[in-house]
Amino acid sequence: MAISKYLVVLIVAVVVVIALASLLIYPRLTTPPTKVLKVGTSPDFPPFEFIDEKGNIVGIDIDLIKAIAKRLGYEVEVISIDFEGLIPALLNKQIDIIASGMTITEERAEVVAFTTPYWEADQAILIVMGSGFKPRSLDDLVNKKVGVQSGTTAEQLVHDYITNTGKSIDVRSYSSYVLAVVDLVNGRLDAVIVDSPVAQMFAKEYNVEVSAVIQTGEKYGLAVRKDDVELLNKLNEALEEFLKTDEWIQIIDKYLGG
Ligand code: GLN
Repeated sequence: MAISKYLVVLIVAVVVVIALASLLIYPRLTTPPTKVLKVGTSPDFPPFEFIDEKGNIVGIDIDLIKAIAKRLGYEVEVISIDFEGLIPALLNKQIDIIASGMTITEERAEVVAFTTPYWEADQAILIVMGSGFKPRSLDDLVNKKVGVQSGTTAEQLVHDYITNTGKSIDVRSYSSYVLAVVDLVNGRLDAVIVDSPVAQMFAKEYNVEVSAVIQTGEKYGLAVRKDDVELLNKLNEALEEFLKTDEWIQIIDKYLGG
């Protein structure tokens, strides 16, 4: 009798312990870990992505992707990569998405999938403030030293001009637009060609000004791998919704000042 009583108590105790333990473990087994979206960006492109005084990567693209990711239940990890390295990093799965003021081009769309556009831009010629040199077009840059960022549509534009006209421009390709602008300020370049909204932002921050705009009618999109169809569809849905919100207007205000 006594033994079977102890046995019952023991069994009850074991059952209780197992029940309590599984209560603790169960949520960890059933709650999926928060999905993290790895976002690649080249933070030398204000106001879309740049490094703030505290050393953080911030900008319109960063706030945009964070807001959209949140709506889709993702957390975001922002990874800094030179512009030229973004598509390779996406293809080798170092990142899941590119948010970097990237123009949707046919050539790029052969290797990555773009979302619907969220911004429009042209190319601008940037010169040192008050310099006598006032180029109005690419023709005025013949035999001049012109800075661009590697792998950009600006670099492509100048190379196409050289190929099509047979004229020569001394193109200097930089890993970062910030470095190109610094060299312009220091007199090592005659001009920099960069997307128009970014040129305007550089003109606010450095001793440089826009001397001409070349209408290229570019549109920015976010990019994912072509086989990530589900992510692309979710991003497009969330993006379309988000671009109609006040939150989007507030982000633009925050970086472009009303
Ligand atoms: N919009 C340009 C491009 O896609 C430049 C982008 C950038 O330098 N971040 O090439």
